[in-house]
Amino acid sequence: MFIPKRVIFERGSLDYEIGRDVLNFFKGNNGVQIINITSNRIKENIPGEDLYNFYREGKKTLVVGVKKGFKFQSCKPSAHYQLPLVSGCTGQCQYCYLNTNLGDKPYIKINVNVEEILSKAGSYINERLPEVTIFEGSATSDPVPVEPYSHLLKRTIGFFANNENGRFRFVTKYNDVDSLINLNHRGKTEVRFTLNTDKVIREYESRTASIDKRIEASVKLARAEYPIGFIIAPVFIYEGWEEDYKNLLIELKDNLPTNLKYPITFEVISHRYTSRAKDIILKVFPDTNLPMKDEERKYKYGQFGYGKFVYEKEQLDHMKEFFTREIEEIFKNSTIKYII
Ligand code: SF4
Repeated sequence: MFIPKRVIFERGSLDYEIGRDVLNFFKGNNGVQIINITSNRIKENIPGEDLYNFYREGKKTLVVGVKKGFKFQSCKPSAHYQLPLVSGCTGQCQYCYLNTNLGDKPYIKINVNVEEILSKAGSYINERLPEVTIFEGSATSDPVPVEPYSHLLKRTIGFFANNENGRFRFVTKYNDVDSLINLNHRGKTEVRFTLNTDKVIREYESRTASIDKRIEASVKLARAEYPIGFIIAPVFIYEGWEEDYKNLLIELKDNLPTNLKYPITFEVISHRYTSRAKDIILKVFPDTNLPMKDEERKYKYGQFGYGKFVYEKEQLDHMKEFFTREIEEIFKNSTIKYII
């Protein structure tokens, strides 16, 4: 669970039950500074004169706000829309895409007007009837570490359970899922866990849950009959990577129950970076040893001019072969969605 150093309440946030719940949760905790602001000037209340320090202080900050006057962003190809419950994440993964997208907003923000947000989701669902509309809850966040006191996922899972044509999905590297176990989700919410080898987690995924905790959490939700998926990402090629990733798959298999209600899904994503991401990563993590030597990668042109440095074609072909073979051998009741 994320215990911040400071909680900033935006104007109006305490008019909502969730805002008041969060205040009550942290009020007696002397280590947590409570700040009420009447403007939207969040950044002025977070110390840090440069990106390096602002990032670290921002990651210790929880903002409680109200989402107003908004349109849902599209979220192709994994869903139709982003569901704006939470933005930002307490983790400090060096390669994280949020560093590029939310560089000046590293704090985690929860939106307390969940009823309005869900009612808007209902309107989007109605517009697309009779089609099913899918909403992604973690396009710009990991919502799980704030769930024990925000209950945003619990409320959202309940909403989608009662909506025939809506589906919800989110992805996490955390394990604070106990309050979701006994919900009547009716199979409408899919939970995906991002996994990686011990070495990658230790070196690059600071302040996230360990692999054992992530697997344990996935087992709890699989037993609770949620549709479950795994994203193995980002895959790094290093000495001994095949053995490590194979052991990871075996550990997962040994822990998961055999009588799963839904086939599990796999998505596998190799490590890639843009020049812009690399610049920011080097400012925030000047001592990083993330493999980002442009000359060792292939440049892949992107849609909007944001080309990416990906592994060489032979390496990617080998990676695809490896994961296809191992996943198919180890997990008989599974679907590989893609390996890229
Ligand atoms: Fe980014 Fe996910 Fe790591 Fe959070 S857990 S810092 S969202 S990669």
